[in-house]
Parts: sequence; C-alpha cells; structure tokens
Amino acid sequence: MLRALFDAGVDVFRCNFSHGTHDDHRRLFAAIRRVESDTGRPIGILADLQGPKLRLGDFAGGRVQLEAGAAFRLDLEGGLGDRSRAPLPHPEVFAALQPGNELLVDDGKVRLKVVDCGRDYADTQCVVGGTLSNHKGVNLPHCVLPISAVTDKDRADLAFALENGADWVALSFVQRPEDVAEGRKLVGNAAGLMVKLEKPSAIRRLDEIIDLADGLMVARGDLGVEMPPEDVPTVQKQIIHSCRLAGKPVIVATQMLESMINAPTPTRAEASDVATAVYEGADAVMLSAETAVGEYPVEAVAIMDRIARRVQEDPLYFPSLQTKLLEHEHTNSDAISSAACQVAATVGAAAIVSFTSSGATALRAARERPAAPILAMTPHLATARRLALLWGAHCVHSADIRGFQDMVQKAVRAAHHEDIAQPGQRIVITAGVPFGTPGATNILRIAWVDR
Ligand code: PEP
Repeated sequence: MLRALFDAGVDVFRCNFSHGTHDDHRRLFAAIRRVESDTGRPIGILADLQGPKLRLGDFAGGRVQLEAGAAFRLDLEGGLGDRSRAPLPHPEVFAALQPGNELLVDDGKVRLKVVDCGRDYADTQCVVGGTLSNHKGVNLPHCVLPISAVTDKDRADLAFALENGADWVALSFVQRPEDVAEGRKLVGNAAGLMVKLEKPSAIRRLDEIIDLADGLMVARGDLGVEMPPEDVPTVQKQIIHSCRLAGKPVIVATQMLESMINAPTPTRAEASDVATAVYEGADAVMLSAETAVGEYPVEAVAIMDRIARRVQEDPLYFPSLQTKLLEHEHTNSDAISSAACQVAATVGAAAIVSFTSSGATALRAARERPAAPILAMTPHLATARRLALLWGAHCVHSADIRGFQDMVQKAVRAAHHEDIAQPGQRIVITAGVPFGTPGATNILRIAWVDR
C-alpha cells in the first residue's frame, strides 16, 4: 500500500504519534525506507507528535453512537467507554471545567455541554450527537489549560522518531513562540521543526512563530474547531502568504478530500479546496483519515496529485504567485537564488539545478515560486528527504561535486535522467565554491542539455 501511495504521488508520509505503538511506527518507518530504496527517490517522514491534545480513551467495540439530548459522563476512571460514559485521562481538564462549558469531540462533530462537574468527572448533555470512537480529539474552546506544548509522551516519541530517522518533527497545539523554542531545544537540527498552527493564540503571534520554525502546517481540523469556520479560509491564506515570504515550507491539512474516506471520487467543493491551497502557493497538501483509515487511499492521493498538476498547467497560476513583497536577505544564497529564477525565466530554462548542502539555497529559490522546476541536488540524503516537502522541488541525492566541469555534467545528466530537461534545452545551475562548503553559494551558470 505504501508503494502504491508513493506511486500515486506521495512525497512525504506523516506518521501520527497520536495513534499506534513504537513497534507500529518502527515497522512503518522501515516500510517507507524500503519504498525509498526500491524506487531510488528520497521520501520524507514527518513524525507528528500528539502534543497536549486531549483525547478520549477507548470504547468497548471501538465506538458508540450518541444521540442529541443524551446524558454522557466523562471521567478519570479508566477502563472502556460505553453509551453512558467515556474515559478522558486528563486531570487538568476536570480542574478547569465549569458547568456551561462545551466539549467538542472529533473536530467538533459531537458537542457535549457540561451540566455538573467535579475533580474527576464531568456530567454532560449531548448537544449535537454522532459517533464517538477510540482516541477522538477533544477541544475546549472556552477554557485555558495550563499545559506545556511538549508532553512526556512527546519526549519519548521524539527520541524514538529521531533515533529512527524522522526528517521532520511536528509540534501540536503550539500556543506561543516559547513553545517552539522548547521544541527546538529538544529537536536541534536533527530534523526539521514543523509547527502545527491550530490555536488562535498562535495565529496572533504568527510571524514570531514562523521565524522560529523550519516549516508550518495549517492544521485546519483543530483550527476550525477553535475558531469560527468563516475565519479559517482567510487565516489559511494569511499563513501561506507569510510562510512564503519567510521561505518556510507550509502544509495545508485536514478534510481536504474528507468524503473520499467512503467514496471513490471527491466532491466538487473538495476538489476546489485542494486547488485553492495550491493556487495560494502551499508547498504541500495533506491527507489524514482519507489515507489512514479510508476505503480509497490510493484514489485520494491520485486525485489530489492530478488537481495539483492541473492547477500548475493553468496559465494564471504562476502569474498569480508573483509578489512585489519579497524582501531579499543580503546573502550570497539569496542573491544567487533570486538571480537564477530571473535568468531561468529570461532564457526559458527547463530547470533550476540547485546544488545544496543544507537545503537553504533550494528553500530560497522555491520562495521565488519560479515557473521552472527546482532540481535540488545534495550529497546528504537527509537534506534530500527534508526537501521532499518543498514547493516545486525535485530532490536528487548525488555524490559530492569535484570541480566545475563535474558540476555541469552532474546537473545536465540529472536533469535529463529525471526527465526534467530534454536535449537542446537550457538549465540554470547554482552552486558554491569551494565545492562541498555549506553556505558558500556563489555560482550561477547556464548550461545546455546535450543532444
Ligand atoms: C489538524 O488538526 O488539522 C491536524 C492535522 O492534526 P491531527 O491530525 O493530529 O488532529
């Protein structure tokens, strides 16, 4: 299945640590790496930490149906839930709850109103009924909980993820820049640090958070529960735009093709939603339940891939991404990358080939949203895997370059071999001399692909 998903268009697999054991994830990581070695294509693994997300415990039979008006108790008792009660293993919730507060379950699909509560229980009345099942998320839009962004479980999962070669680590329920700084202390540069934006308080300090993160995710599931649905589209647009200006990859996630959990084709509105994220300049679009538990995972990836490609063929797509708001950093990397994009447009180059050690040059080139694809060539497999997320980038793991001629040859061969440039076309190459020195980008060269 992983191979089929990859063939259908996956660049990065998100492994959600809210579900499964370390053994499950170890098998999953190994299976992804097998697809990688079978196909010879770098694949990113995003380890998504649960964070201080509140989740229900388990139910006898996995799920129950709750009708509006029904009485339902949440408590710290443990055991399996049924139609009358469910375990909610978070003492801090019961400490903060007041009668009249609402608990929103499963991205707000089920709403429970607190009638009475104590230190270890809350008696609620179901306001909007639906299915409750194992581990579903719980949001408390009216309560502020004194909880850290990285739980003990996250620390253990993070150690596991880094030991097993995760390329990105996502922090959930970040509320403030300090949470990102805490995550950075733990992750360092061992993986890219992705911040999931799902709390209104994080949106209020967006620029500071973007500054501290390596990548961002518009986590619309929780964001759409914590703020009114009408605010989500503009917040999404604002996040994508700010990330693009900062040169940080951004993912749009959740409910993109929700109906495909049970149907082989998406609704027209879902197709439009995916297209909108692509038009807005998102680096990646993400599927969750559609591929994790849905009946049509391969079809969902395939249609998402087709929608993204179709948008890219629209003559209005690239012009709509141009902005005068890009400010350039006073670095060689930014100067060369932006010049390369301009040169590529002027000569109609088939690709921009970016030799990159840390990935920084490719990130700066992608920020320009050039019409030519970016072929990111790196001697570090970890960089290639991390860049799999990047807008417009096709990553190739290649040996170190030995000199100028070697650089041109490797670029031309790779562009041809990866079917990105054909004989008779030009490519624009950026690299740094001395070769193999990170941060030394200072060369721009136009080369022809030989006949
Ligand atoms: C989200 O809330 O949109 C999200 C991606 O997070 P999770 O899948 O962990 O709920």
